[in-house]
Amino acid sequence: MLIDTHTHIYFKDIIYRLEEVLKNAKENDVLSMIIVGINGASNKLAIELANKHNLYASVGIHPSDVDGSDFNEVLLYAKENRVVAIGETGIDLYWRQDNLELQQAIFIKHIELAIELNLPLIIHMRNSFEEIYDILVQYKGRVTGVFHCFTLGINEANKIIDLGFYLGIGGVLTFKNAKDLQDAVKKVPKDRLILETDSPYLAPTPFRGKINEPAYTKYVAIKLADLLNVSYEEIKTVTTNNTKRLFKIGDEK
Ligand SMILES: [Zn+2]
Repeated sequence: MLIDTHTHIYFKDIIYRLEEVLKNAKENDVLSMIIVGINGASNKLAIELANKHNLYASVGIHPSDVDGSDFNEVLLYAKENRVVAIGETGIDLYWRQDNLELQQAIFIKHIELAIELNLPLIIHMRNSFEEIYDILVQYKGRVTGVFHCFTLGINEANKIIDLGFYLGIGGVLTFKNAKDLQDAVKKVPKDRLILETDSPYLAPTPFRGKINEPAYTKYVAIKLADLLNVSYEEIKTVTTNNTKRLFKIGDEK
């Protein structure tokens, strides 16, 4: 089986056909997924959907949603039964640079909550590797997690792995111009790779530009198998084991 470790199936682009989306996922070996919240309303939805469909949820405040956010909500939601991670959180300097201090402060709150609850972090990074690294290195050995939608090269990959974190590999891996990323996944230890879609965004080839969905995790897995010169079966086993280890899925919560 495959696990999509990062989906936003509650968005309107995709939720209206949820039954079909969950059926497609099953038919494409994606037997579980982590529904990732980004703010108060979506955290609630992620938990509801996880409970209803026997899936998993993650709760947090996305760096693009920090203005006016209420972190107390995350504290409450984080203790819900099917919540297996804290996030998404992180720093995004692509959309906004003017509120970096607030983004940093909220990111630190997520890290401290993850440590307190012994949950992994789901980290969003855009144009912000140094800023995120500088904070996380201070917590090295005390917290783990994933850099979701990792798209950088081997230098950043090695630093992330050295922090004890995992790389979330999604549809970008299938893009023709993703040479640095394709090169990096060949060089890093296989036991630090997990798969994701970030659906409804970032659909892999041959669906690039269309609405993404958890089923397409399979296309990322096939591309990864091709790059690493191993079978699709092996990628399924390795990435699912990695996902279960990181998110402590399969243990009684
Ligand atoms: Zn996301």
